[in-house]
Amino acid sequence: MIGLIHATAAGRTGCERLAAAWPGRTVLYGDGADRPLRSVVATAFAECDQLVLFLATGAAVRLLAPLLRGKAEDPGVVTVDEAHRHAVALLGGHGGGANDLAAAVSRVLGSAPVITTATDSVGTPALDALPYPTDGPLAPLTRALLDGAPVRLHTDQTWPLPAFPLTVVSTPPPPAAADSGEPSSPEDPQPLAGQAPIGQEQPSTRHAEPQAQAPHQPRTAPPNTAIPRPPDAAGASEGSRATGVAGAAPQVLGGYAVWVTDRVIREAQGTVTVFVRPPSLVVGVGGSRGVGRAEVVGLVRSTLAEAGLAEKSVSALATVDAKAGEEGIVAAAAEFGVPLVTYAAADLAGTAVPNPSAAPLAAVGTPSVAEAAAILAAADGGQLVVEKRKSAMATAAVARRRPRGRLAVVGLGPGARDLVTPRAVAELRRASVIVGLDQYVDQIRDLLLPGTRVLESGLGAEEERARTAVAEARAGHAVALIGSGDAGVYAMASPALAEAADDIDVIGVPGVTAALAAAALLGAPLGHDHVSISLSDLHTPWDVIERRVRAAAESDLVVTFYNPRSRGRAWQLPKALSVLAEHRTPLTPVGVVHAASRPDERVEVTTLAGLDVGTVDMVTVVTVGNTASRIVSGRMVTPRGYRWQS
Ligand code: SAH
Repeated sequence: MIGLIHATAAGRTGCERLAAAWPGRTVLYGDGADRPLRSVVATAFAECDQLVLFLATGAAVRLLAPLLRGKAEDPGVVTVDEAHRHAVALLGGHGGGANDLAAAVSRVLGSAPVITTATDSVGTPALDALPYPTDGPLAPLTRALLDGAPVRLHTDQTWPLPAFPLTVVSTPPPPAAADSGEPSSPEDPQPLAGQAPIGQEQPSTRHAEPQAQAPHQPRTAPPNTAIPRPPDAAGASEGSRATGVAGAAPQVLGGYAVWVTDRVIREAQGTVTVFVRPPSLVVGVGGSRGVGRAEVVGLVRSTLAEAGLAEKSVSALATVDAKAGEEGIVAAAAEFGVPLVTYAAADLAGTAVPNPSAAPLAAVGTPSVAEAAAILAAADGGQLVVEKRKSAMATAAVARRRPRGRLAVVGLGPGARDLVTPRAVAELRRASVIVGLDQYVDQIRDLLLPGTRVLESGLGAEEERARTAVAEARAGHAVALIGSGDAGVYAMASPALAEAADDIDVIGVPGVTAALAAAALLGAPLGHDHVSISLSDLHTPWDVIERRVRAAAESDLVVTFYNPRSRGRAWQLPKALSVLAEHRTPLTPVGVVHAASRPDERVEVTTLAGLDVGTVDMVTVVTVGNTASRIVSGRMVTPRGYRWQS
């Protein structure tokens, strides 16, 4: 039974609407007019499986606190505010069904459900929001992830995917060695003949609806496909013993599985399986002049199907430059929704292939189009997995690319949560590995998806952090390397990118650097040309620093000093200020900002003569105005230009 309690007229209306919507399932406990609300709540708490309280959460917490017995016994409780705007799942989100109840209440009242249980609110990666297309029944698998049911994760290769929750037990990619060709045991997931499912794929819809399952026959990989062997049955049963099972996901005979693979595979019977299709395959195609779209598409499809490869993993078609305008090939690429990349005949001719032939040599000047183009498109570390196949007028061959990892260099801003950009938040949740200084990790730990691997280290370990981040990305992971302010300003981006080769993707996410955060607090000190100078002489000789300060002084730039002063570095700031003072009056405005946007923020607007360097520490920036800067109403203002304003 669902107990309904209110304390106001608006609450009573809400109770009546719920009672009308759910006949026979609710008990109206009223408003406590004739006895204390506390005792009404206590009675309802003892009698009902679930409660909806039309009360402020604070009042509800105080009334419920003395009644709590334990997660297993307590009813699920939802509170609704006076305006029926929010239905808050307060107690028993999963076990007590309060999350679902909040949603149900909201459907009746038009309120918004407020869900705060970790998996639901912090989120698991929504399978339909993954960066790659999928095959299989997304809804039940997403439900299983949300409910914390154990899910097996199988990956053929490491692709830069977001973190999966802790209830996902991952089976690491097998060694890159070629398939032994042995038949798998009957319990094993089986690669498929695959024709039916592949034939049913809709290339224009990159996210698949559940496929009708066709009768499947086991097959073994062709000898040249270098397909890793599926994990064995022991690995699978380990998955089903996963800990942390908290949910009410329906028990499914074979459990739940996610495969990150370009192979068409049959999971054990009864297993709810979603296949994530990484962009791992490139198909080289050739064709005689006038070849039709249908013939190219048909050959590519049958080539993939016979090799047990998934169409959704195809990331490009590749051919020779001379065929860049061949209509049938161009239209085929469009039908698969992938780009057509082309190569010079000479480059194709210089590529070793298993099946060279005289015909293309005569026609376009290379002994191989399909195989050579596939190999070139797969780039370094790629490998031909299906040799050339022919139809009347077309050829096709398939190569598999090595995954490219992803390194996001993410600035977290000066400290306040609302100065972390939405893009930075998205990248933190896009990553499965976070690398950073421990104190910065603490700033954003609550934003990370459950299951994110955090590699944190202390001050001074910059080089090691940079190397770790790059190494993890090279291994194929999605990595976020974090830094305060902007991660490229006196921070980790440079050592990391100095290490990184072009075998990873790098994404920079700008952050609000300390100079900007401070400027906004000071007024408008950066209204004209300005420069940042770090006074740390740990890695830069002092004479270089002093030369730059002098140049800034002589050229009348506004200067922001980073790393201005620490316990071991006391004389550098006074020295730098004295150099500036040679070119500016003692009344030049100076802004001192300590811990911008953090709880211990301190802002002072003073002058060169008035500055007390004792107030400056390592969490401070000092901004010195130019000769036109003024203090206006206590704010530091540098005019836009000497002719703009006087
Ligand atoms: N990447 C950072 C700078 C790192 S260097 C950024 O873009 O902001 C470290 C120096 O930055 C500190 O010594 C201090 O001078 C400055 N700093 C960083 N955060 C600050 C803050 N919240 N308030 C004031 N200064 C800050």
